[in-house]
Amino acid sequence: MHVLILGGTTEGRRLAELLHATPGTRVTSSLAGRVAAPRLPPGEVRVGGFGGPDGLAAWLREHRVDALVDATHPFAREMSFNAAAAAATAHVPLLALRRPGWVPVEGDDWHPVGSLEEAARVLPGLGRRVFLTTGRMGLAAFADLDDLWFLMRSVDAPDGPCPARMEVLLDRGPFAPEGERELLARHRIDVLVTKDSGGAATAPKLGAAREAGIPVVVVTRPPVPDGVPTAATPEEAAARLRP
Ligand code: NAP
Repeated sequence: MHVLILGGTTEGRRLAELLHATPGTRVTSSLAGRVAAPRLPPGEVRVGGFGGPDGLAAWLREHRVDALVDATHPFAREMSFNAAAAAATAHVPLLALRRPGWVPVEGDDWHPVGSLEEAARVLPGLGRRVFLTTGRMGLAAFADLDDLWFLMRSVDAPDGPCPARMEVLLDRGPFAPEGERELLARHRIDVLVTKDSGGAATAPKLGAAREAGIPVVVVTRPPVPDGVPTAATPEEAAARLRP
């Protein structure tokens, strides 16, 4: 059985490990190519876009893929819709692997917003020193906020329009609670911005913000294609893929 995993996430890599260790399963992971030195999963790896849903459908047929797993990040909206369209065209079963979103707990001061642009609109009313953890793409949304100072953490350095007063911190999760606490204190952060990415690797910043009494602007998840069966963990996905 040949499984194509659309990856770029910790969960996608974990699923590749599980399937790679399953006799009779060939696994190929696909990465978009956004990260310069990605952590590579076991099995075969291909890098770069397919050229839209038609390109993906052609790839599925050409490489005799028996099952497609959309294990992309919850905010990789376009790829999830491409996967649904391509799977339907090529008549390949599709499974989505989606980590659950984060849920606020007592003491959290969360401000949900629908987009990075909306996050930028609410920020000046919430703080002056911003810990920005939404990734290096889309920083243009914050580029006009000249009165605010930003600590921007991402895996690779940003390019394109950015806020004028911004320090870049290149780092990759998982992050530990102690480190997150220390970071907020050292930079005198008074507001955090995050996507609702979910997962344990980047969750400790939320606890650190709660402890420090700092508001959190949470960008809510984009819609997902209707009717796609979904697994919440790599283990569940692997079990559902077993022949
Ligand atoms: P996106 O906006 O949904 O996709 C844009 C285009 O990138 C797609 O149309 C596709 O090009 C290509 N692409 C995306 N994921 C791909 C994959 N796994 N393999 C091959 N091509 C892919 O995606 P994005 O938000 O830029 O995310 C890109 C990658 O980064 C994904 O693998 C995602 O899991 C990972 N990631 C994203 C975020 C985030 O916040 N968005 C965070 C962490 C990791 P074609 O149409 O040419 O096929």
